[in-house]
Amino acid sequence: MRVLKFGGTSVGSPERIKNLAQLVQTDESRIIVLSAMAGTTNALVEITELLYQEQNDLANEKITELEQQYRDRIDDLYASEEYKSKGNELITSHFNYIRNFVFRSFTTLQEKAILAQGELISTAMFHYYLSESGVNSVFLPALNFMRIDKDGEPDYFYIKENLDRILSEETEHNLYITQGFICRNVYGEIDNLKRGGSDYTASLIGSVLQSEEVQIWTDIDGFHNNDPRYVENTKALEQLSFDEAAELAYFGAKIMHPSSIMPCKSQSVPVRLKNTLSPTDAGTLISNDLVGKGIKAIAAKDGITAIKIKSGRMLLAYGFLRKVFEVFEIYKTPIDMITTSEVAVSLTIDDNSNLKEIESELAKYGSVEIDQNQSIICIVGDFISESAGSAKKVLGALENIPLRMISYGGSKHNISVLVNQEDKIAALQALSSQLF
Ligand code: ASP
Repeated sequence: MRVLKFGGTSVGSPERIKNLAQLVQTDESRIIVLSAMAGTTNALVEITELLYQEQNDLANEKITELEQQYRDRIDDLYASEEYKSKGNELITSHFNYIRNFVFRSFTTLQEKAILAQGELISTAMFHYYLSESGVNSVFLPALNFMRIDKDGEPDYFYIKENLDRILSEETEHNLYITQGFICRNVYGEIDNLKRGGSDYTASLIGSVLQSEEVQIWTDIDGFHNNDPRYVENTKALEQLSFDEAAELAYFGAKIMHPSSIMPCKSQSVPVRLKNTLSPTDAGTLISNDLVGKGIKAIAAKDGITAIKIKSGRMLLAYGFLRKVFEVFEIYKTPIDMITTSEVAVSLTIDDNSNLKEIESELAKYGSVEIDQNQSIICIVGDFISESAGSAKKVLGALENIPLRMISYGGSKHNISVLVNQEDKIAALQALSSQLF
């Protein structure tokens, strides 16, 4: 069984849905995981925000606007009157469901139910399209098997049991269509795996089924060795290890959701990144094998805040770092990079929602300096065999860029530096021209 996930742009228009239908057909068994059509989840988020603010008229306008877009797509997608009318009924039922929530006091429960509609609609539309084209496929509702536990973590046991059961009941066809992103929580209510979570769905399915391969299809031909938005002549990487891919996915390379690495890594299920616009390209293969040495790729993440806590009390003391880290734990704020000296510690965060509170708590332990608008540049590769040389090359390439922090040795696969956001492009270009 292979699991193939297609993102919002791959189902973003009737044209793209028709191409996708060609692409997914083979003799092998496949589970197709779809996102909502591009732009839909954002539009649904906007609607839920209006409903929280009790701006019901505006919410209704947005719902009608989105509904109309879908009606136009239905008209273009299906050829026969029968399927046009099935498609229109589908849209009516989902949009009536959304409108149900307009006159009620709005809660997160209802928000989650609304956000799920994008994936529910895209998969049903695709399933109908396959059926109209004479292609047999099985509709596999994710809400029947995808579940998170009380901590919001995937309930692997439940997912596996239910998926195995559902798949064993279906013996006639081998093409399954399911929704990414959506799931049920521990109370059985509709929930989701957080924004961008369709990759996570595919990887969870691949992992519990110990599938042959999980494929993540987007509009780019795999992980590139640098950011193609800022650097010319970047090239797609043929192979990466899960650890290398995790660093790149987390530090900015948008092609794959970082949480989708772990489930496949733990079951050694290879992940292949493929390009819908060029389906015969091999793409990037991610597996537990470490292939190639030295520096392989560079990614950057913006919107980083650096916090320095300086204190004489840190000198020869123990327990100081624990107290500092506890502050971040209390405010549920993950720390990305850390560097220390004997009298100060600098660290970075990308979530500023509790920055004021964190600052005032940290002030109990020393003087606090905050620099916002920083970028982490993450250089990924296999630095075990070539460690001394790699650090020298990286720092040499960045000799004209002021570096706020340097992190090396945390893992064998990553050298990270923190620069001012405005120096990011120059840094990426300098690294590219000197390292590759
Ligand atoms: N539709 C959801 C989102 O836009 C999930 C996904 O596309 O991965 O976040």
